[in-house]
Amino acid sequence: MAVQQNKVSKSRRNNRRAHDALTAGNPNECGNCGELKRPHHVCPSCGHYGEREVIAMNDEIDLDEDAA
Ligand SMILES: [Zn+2]
Repeated sequence: MAVQQNKVSKSRRNNRRAHDALTAGNPNECGNCGELKRPHHVCPSCGHYGEREVIAMNDEIDLDEDAA
């Protein structure tokens, strides 16, 4: 195990953590279905990007058909 050579002071530790904050996402409404989606990304709920459907969506996915 690596052992630090010097104690990290509260000031130095807190200064390091000053950049650790998470920033909120900036979701946009999908122009096709109205769901919130990431800007400049394909909509995960309808598969559209702009006017086009770029990912074919399967509306009825039933994966647990045989898992009874
Ligand atoms: Zn959408």
